[in-house]
Amino acid sequence: MTNPATADIVDHWVDGKPWTGESDRTAPVFDPALGVAQRSVRMATAEDVGVAVAAAAAALPGWSDSSVATRHRFLLNFRELLNARKDELASILTAEHGKVLADAAGEVARGLEVVEFALSMPHLLKGEFSQNASTGIDVYSVREPVGVVGIISPFNFPAMVPLWFFPIAIAAGNTVVLKPSEKDPSAANWLAELAADAGLPSGVLNVVHGDKEAVDALLTHPRVAAISFVGSTPIADYVYRTAGAHGKRVQALGGAKNHMLVLPDADLDLAADAAVNAGFGSAGERCMAVSVVLAVDTIADDLVSRVASRMTGLRTGDGRRGCDMGPLITREHRDRVAAYLDTAVADQARVVVDGRDSAIDGDPNGFWLGPSLIDRVPVTSAVYRDEIFGPVLSVVRVEGFEQAVEIVNASPYGNGVAIFTNDGGAARRFQRQVNVGMIGVNVPIPVPVAYHSFGGWKASLFGDAKAYGPNGFAFFTREKAITSRWLDPSHGGIDLGFPRNS
Ligand code: NAD
Repeated sequence: MTNPATADIVDHWVDGKPWTGESDRTAPVFDPALGVAQRSVRMATAEDVGVAVAAAAAALPGWSDSSVATRHRFLLNFRELLNARKDELASILTAEHGKVLADAAGEVARGLEVVEFALSMPHLLKGEFSQNASTGIDVYSVREPVGVVGIISPFNFPAMVPLWFFPIAIAAGNTVVLKPSEKDPSAANWLAELAADAGLPSGVLNVVHGDKEAVDALLTHPRVAAISFVGSTPIADYVYRTAGAHGKRVQALGGAKNHMLVLPDADLDLAADAAVNAGFGSAGERCMAVSVVLAVDTIADDLVSRVASRMTGLRTGDGRRGCDMGPLITREHRDRVAAYLDTAVADQARVVVDGRDSAIDGDPNGFWLGPSLIDRVPVTSAVYRDEIFGPVLSVVRVEGFEQAVEIVNASPYGNGVAIFTNDGGAARRFQRQVNVGMIGVNVPIPVPVAYHSFGGWKASLFGDAKAYGPNGFAFFTREKAITSRWLDPSHGGIDLGFPRNS
């Protein structure tokens, strides 16, 4: 198997092999820790996307008609190969995304969990049967694949987010065109080639690279039946509306601004550890990162100093050197995130730790920004309101529980939230009162396990279906209900009345 992250150019993967497409447009792919382009990626035209969709459509009759046993066996092989070669995939993630190797291994592990969940497909695809619903009549329902599905993924989880969707889509008998982020495209090709090695027929899983042009082609293509999207809120909204207007089933997961409430009775050491882990892991480029700590006034000074003292031990640098935190994805993104430190000062907040001053263990050209802590952030400031998506942790001081819940619920986002407390009653009230899709109680990053579905509320998810878990199988299947009577000599005859159950 080839390692796409060592090639000069990343091709598309269509019909079971690399494909150059017809476009001569390419984009550079950087190693963010080195700050230089390592290779380029092809950028598909709408016609190129059409070729990938045609390959998926051609593979659909055979794959959707394959036995449950065949699809199950493929998933077993795929799981075994992925598990055996997970380190290879982790190193690709570090080379193109920049996240440190341990974090990349964690990403692959969470993706593997979804593959393992998808192995429950024989059970989850079972229909229902009502015998003798009316005299001599049986009613049963079955789940069928929706058809060709498009998956569009963001830069921050180049392996895990595709793995949230395609194993389940394929298990359910669909065929797939995956459009990963153009910023770190190699992991998708690696996964597609691994799937081929595991016995997946050509055309069942295709990868096209590109930007808006490729995405628009998927959203509007008449042969694409469903779209799973993960990315920022404005694009998720656009994808939901555009694909919906073209008659597709859509789930579009958007951005986030996740709060962590610390009540006075909490274990402050546990809370400080959690804030640092969830705020700065993966350089804050996680949709479930904690970006706002809501600290009750009485313990806020204590908590801020515990968080700040832990930050002095963090090493920012090249993910291959055993550091805690890697670079940001691009130079532009790094500069945009760093600018929020100036905004904080202008808005009368207090920069407690300034990540621009951090020592860096890496190439000076990398897209570096150390971890930053900003206290007394007003909720009117862009530092609070915007999804910064970088290693910047804000502290907003609150009088108590009620004010914290008001702030959480006033946010347009509703992805994740956490409460740190030793009061079970308060935790229970919090869980019931917040309008957020995923809630942690003394757990800072409450990403549900693969057999519970993942997704937020409000501007963090457009559509009804969350990712993976039972929602995943529901999204990638359509139900048919069959009402059946086998004529028996003692029944029958003509009756023009409306059917009644007796
Ligand atoms: P993005 O929205 O810029 O890009 C996501 C995908 O959309 C990419 O494949 C990209 O090529 C494509 N795209 C970009 N601009 C487009 C346009 N104008 N029209 C059509 N397609 C377009 O997001 P990103 O920067 O790659 O990823 C970070 C964002 O993703 C953050 O907002 C983060 O919160 C979010 N995210 C959310 C979740 C979740 O589960 N809710 C998970 C991971 C990331």
